[in-house]
Amino acid sequence: MEFERRHALLGAAALAAMGSALPAQAQAAPPPQRGANPPRFLRIKHGDMEVTTLLDGAMGGVNAGIQTFFPDSRPEEIVPLRARAFAIERGLHQPVGAYLVHSGRNLVMIDCGGHSSFIPTTGGTLDALRASGYTPEQVDTVLLTHIHPEHALGLSYDGTTRNFPNAEVVVTQIDHQFWTDPAMESRVPQGQRFIEAGRRAIRPYTGRIRTVEMRQDLEVLPGIFMDPAPGHTPGHVSFRLTSQNETMLIWGDIAHQMTIQLARPRWRVGVDVDSAMGVESRVRTLDMLASTGILMGGVHVPWPGFGRIIRDGEGFLYVPRPQQFS
Ligand SMILES: [Zn+2]
Repeated sequence: MEFERRHALLGAAALAAMGSALPAQAQAAPPPQRGANPPRFLRIKHGDMEVTTLLDGAMGGVNAGIQTFFPDSRPEEIVPLRARAFAIERGLHQPVGAYLVHSGRNLVMIDCGGHSSFIPTTGGTLDALRASGYTPEQVDTVLLTHIHPEHALGLSYDGTTRNFPNAEVVVTQIDHQFWTDPAMESRVPQGQRFIEAGRRAIRPYTGRIRTVEMRQDLEVLPGIFMDPAPGHTPGHVSFRLTSQNETMLIWGDIAHQMTIQLARPRWRVGVDVDSAMGVESRVRTLDMLASTGILMGGVHVPWPGFGRIIRDGEGFLYVPRPQQFS
């Protein structure tokens, strides 16, 4: 190795002496930077607001699970949809993200990622938040789209410590009741493990939880409005950020599998509490986004999680936001 390196250097010196450019092949390639990844956050301006995506991680899955997740699907329909989007054939793989909004008045998380105790490949949100230049202590509000583990466990990993010690948690009254009322337990499709995780996430915030009614256009914070999307859970909502005539929608779980569900928005989702209502919410949201062309983001939208929705035949297509540097 050392000999090769010296040899390459000598070769380089000889070439330099001859006045020639050094061909790329003359140098040994550096070792691959295994595990090194680009920054796990991306910040954009949105009117007077600043919106930062934070990459929490990803959820794996196997192809065998697709039929359970999409009971209306047939395997031969799934393959071409994924191939059409150049998706790597890895079953139900989906990214997990969260959004940090500086509205000028508030520093707000919209959902806050999961934790490795529930899904081993999640839990990066706090590191991404710090890397983005803020601290969890500075966050004054956490808005929850719903109380599912990969959206809410970032609140608390152990059920006693508040990861956002100074934050108020805002969630719809109906979702809060769904996850805390023992009478509702039988309606949770995913069972006790999800119930335990949801309760663990919010427990340390007792006295700091503001439950709000699920109502169209409810202004939960200045410039941040609610867009109800029930079905996935009874109180599942999206949030609309409005500033200087610019509007952006951030959803929770309108779609988990973008390549499949945007092409087939009417396929029911097996893990929805009310899958028919979930279909209505998905179609209504996608239709609104395609009609208005506003920017959107979502917890399982491909990284870095900003894009737009356009119509495509009977369904829709996701178009990532181009990176523009001015
Ligand atoms: Zn989710």
